[in-house]
Amino acid sequence: MRYVAPGDHVVTCVSMACGSCRQCLRGRSHLCAHEGLVRGPGREPRLSRDGATVHQYFELSCYAEQMLVHEKAVVKITKELPLEKAALLGCSVVTGVGAAQNTAKVGPGDTVAVVGCGGIGLNAIQGARLAGAERIIAVDRLRGKLSSSRPSSARPTRSTRAPPIPSPRSSG
Ligand SMILES: [Zn+2]
Repeated sequence: MRYVAPGDHVVTCVSMACGSCRQCLRGRSHLCAHEGLVRGPGREPRLSRDGATVHQYFELSCYAEQMLVHEKAVVKITKELPLEKAALLGCSVVTGVGAAQNTAKVGPGDTVAVVGCGGIGLNAIQGARLAGAERIIAVDRLRGKLSSSRPSSARPTRSTRAPPIPSPRSSG
């Protein structure tokens, strides 16, 4: 273990990559072969209980109080970030921010429309804002989700192409 040391603050990542295979070196870490990162078929399990294998969902199992993960499955974070806030850095953050900054390549002054303001959409809005987008238009059928987009300075826009899904209070 060279990347982290006892006491470091980290977040775990479901999309670990070796960083040294052909795909990783070509910038395609999502296609990493995971050589040496995960247990292959027939190999001794990392964890067991009473002789039975304990499986780790996506090699993580984040709901446990303690985790046994590969060093490549963690990212160091600053100790200034409280852990209870770091715990919110789930898959919707990396997916949404990554969609805006890596896939769409939003840049300063761009105008961006984000369709759908759930967890991923709100983080796409944040990613666009961080990338310097000048105008961000948030589109959703549900007013409640649009109001969640306001702190990010997105311009809420309600789609009227499909009827809204009734909330539990208005359906009775
Ligand atoms: Zn790799």
